[in-house]
Amino acid sequence: MRPPVWNPPISLSASEQKVAQRIRKAKLFLFLRQIRHELFDLEFQQELAKVFKDSTVGLCPVPPAQIALAIILQAYTGVSDDEAIEAMVMDRRWQLVLDCLDSEQAPFGKGTLVRFRAALIASEGDRMLIERTIEMAQMPQGYSFRTLRAALDSSPLWGAARVEDTYNLLGHALRKALEVIARDRKQNVSSIATLAGADIVAGSSLKAALDLDWDDPQQKAQALTTILQTLNSVESWVKEQTDVGEKALTQAKQSIEDARIIEAQDTEEESNGSPKLRKGVAPNRRISIEDKDMRHGRKSRNQRFDGYKRHVLKDLDLGMVRAVGVTSANQPEAEVTQPIETDLQHQKVELKELQIDRAYLTSHLVKERDSDLTIVCKSWRVRNGKLFDKTSFILDWENSKILCPNGISLPFMQGQVVHFPKHECNICPLHSQCTESKNGRSVSIHADEILLKELRERQNTAQGRAKLRERVSIEHCLAKIGQWQGEQARYIGLRKNLFDLRRMAVVHNLHVLAQMPLPNPMLATA
Ligand code: SF4
Repeated sequence: MRPPVWNPPISLSASEQKVAQRIRKAKLFLFLRQIRHELFDLEFQQELAKVFKDSTVGLCPVPPAQIALAIILQAYTGVSDDEAIEAMVMDRRWQLVLDCLDSEQAPFGKGTLVRFRAALIASEGDRMLIERTIEMAQMPQGYSFRTLRAALDSSPLWGAARVEDTYNLLGHALRKALEVIARDRKQNVSSIATLAGADIVAGSSLKAALDLDWDDPQQKAQALTTILQTLNSVESWVKEQTDVGEKALTQAKQSIEDARIIEAQDTEEESNGSPKLRKGVAPNRRISIEDKDMRHGRKSRNQRFDGYKRHVLKDLDLGMVRAVGVTSANQPEAEVTQPIETDLQHQKVELKELQIDRAYLTSHLVKERDSDLTIVCKSWRVRNGKLFDKTSFILDWENSKILCPNGISLPFMQGQVVHFPKHECNICPLHSQCTESKNGRSVSIHADEILLKELRERQNTAQGRAKLRERVSIEHCLAKIGQWQGEQARYIGLRKNLFDLRRMAVVHNLHVLAQMPLPNPMLATA
């Protein structure tokens, strides 16, 4: 059955007015009450109906617009699914927005909320919510809907799952494998662990079960051997099980595979064949069993974080978030620009100016840019102590030649280093001002040296510096989103966290909308 269209009243009833008057903070409740029929107009409701066809048999389907509003309120208030359902019964502000004032029952249950979220994720419906807020915006005078000036930046998002050391990661994966089989067979984990020869993972703490002196390197090495032997034992035992349900068996095998990934990334063989922990951190090291997408990342050289990076692209003229992206914490910033560009293509908008920090300079948006896209970014400082810096050398782009201060000219290519001949440099009268090397001066030419030159030149003008200051606005936007979303991810996995960030973008855009003149005079008096 197709969900019905939602037609809540537009004007406030007497009892709604009383609630509205009592809302002092959290004005978004009131704003959503005022614009809900515009936000979820008939066309948008029909779009949502295509993505959510609730399969619950025998129950009256709930209008998707009503659930979508609850999803937005959930993001705004930062509550869990259970708390959201509770708020629909206990919180009159939620009831005001969802048209269920004084109702003793929530308009829908947690299952519907979960299914709706899954449907939005499966069909990119969360992106549609962002697009809808942008459609509702009042365009400023002179604003072109087709061209975009935007700023892109990111901030850390700590993962929701536990980060563990190698011993505990292996133990966690093994226990998980045994737990699904125990559940399937309706037995307790300890008896399954005994059958699988894995008693050490049956308890709540692997390290307590091993009961070793963890300061003793020999005992630590022995612990690793014992855990890996247990892994072999569990793997063989699981393979022999024929009376386990298919789903449980697949999950158990997946956990064992996870343990093998940890083994491969974190351990290596000693010359005598016994295992030992690998030195250093493996590239792309998995750090959690529950969340396979979390990674170690760095805020700066000294500050580390575990989880994700959230990226936000803000329209500098409209003030709204156009697109967001989530990447694992170890992924270079540049990798988010492909999916962000896809989102912009959906909005049929073309980037004409992109303000970024240097981490995005290697992105495809910069490398494959059209000539009419302006990149605004702080350039690197070109310094070489007291010696000549790169700007003392003249780059002749037409002939691809570089000219040194002493008039020596050599060919150059972007992305390569030019080495001036030592026999010239060593007899050069400017040698002491140019290099301390006896092998001649070298100058590295960046892969996109033209852009760097452009950035340096722009930074030297007042207008260029004013442009750079515009980037502050994206930092404020990220800070606000951080306030609503918090520093820690709500969900496990990249896609669900992208969903969460997208609804935060919706909350941000609604706040911007609330500051704009209302298109419909009825809203102003509602
Ligand atoms: S030291 Fe070499 S590169 Fe530098 S100015 Fe002299 S000749 Fe040119």
